[in-house]
Amino acid sequence: MISNNQTQQPNQSSSTQLKWIDSHAHLDFDRFDHDRKEVIQRAQARGVEKIISIGTHIASSQRAIALAEEHPDFIFASAGFHPLYMDDEHEEGWQQLSQLLRHPQVVAVGETGLDYYYDKTEPEQQRQSFRKHLQLAKEFAKPIIIHIRDAFDDAYRIIEEEGVPAGGVVHCFTGGIPECQKALELGLYISISGIATFKSAKALRAAVAIIPKDRLLLETDSPFLAPTPHRGSRNEPSFVVDTAQCVAELQNISLSELAKTSYDNTLRLFKLNNH
Ligand SMILES: [Zn+2]
Ligand SMILES: [Zn+2]
Repeated sequence: MISNNQTQQPNQSSSTQLKWIDSHAHLDFDRFDHDRKEVIQRAQARGVEKIISIGTHIASSQRAIALAEEHPDFIFASAGFHPLYMDDEHEEGWQQLSQLLRHPQVVAVGETGLDYYYDKTEPEQQRQSFRKHLQLAKEFAKPIIIHIRDAFDDAYRIIEEEGVPAGGVVHCFTGGIPECQKALELGLYISISGIATFKSAKALRAAVAIIPKDRLLLETDSPFLAPTPHRGSRNEPSFVVDTAQCVAELQNISLSELAKTSYDNTLRLFKLNNH
């Protein structure tokens, strides 16, 4: 059944009735300092009902928690050391991270993972840090948010060895069909960012088409990676709807079906209903 017929798609005004979640945004970054309030209002105006603001180190995680406290049931936080921001990755930093993970509005561990694209952090340090995050996710029974760039083999091997009992998501997925299938085998969710709207991302777009409906999340990863038609400008949570339009086409489902399933998946993985 063909359901991605553009003429039957909701237009801009009716698509604002749909409910969305931006499962990964860096709302604490200083690029939002001058207009964070307007950014949040624009997201709400397009139907974004929840945003998970992702911590990348201690101060960033603390800022994400402060935003969650200011906007209960709308903004949630995560806490972790991004593989490219590991200055706090020392004993005291890990103790602080454990404290932050006790906060009720911290719904996930991360972001963590492996990024071999930039040679900013030693791969071995990244792998050890990733393992510790996986152990914390187990200890706190919280899902894990995983960043993988040019490191799928190592990342999947470590996940297999450590396990993900509370679940997890490969965020801003950039792989193709084989990397997608492996993540699914490991029981992970897959989160799609604006990269899927770039026509050049052929392998990724092929992978998006095969993700089972019940494993798919949407995100902006803002302020980075604005989707078409905003490419090149600062990304923000309201643009998750632009990515959704593209993902619905690639999945050959209606926008309303994608809204419902991706929303439910995000609630389920991060247990957002319990807050
Ligand atoms: Zn990331
Ligand atoms: Zn991120």
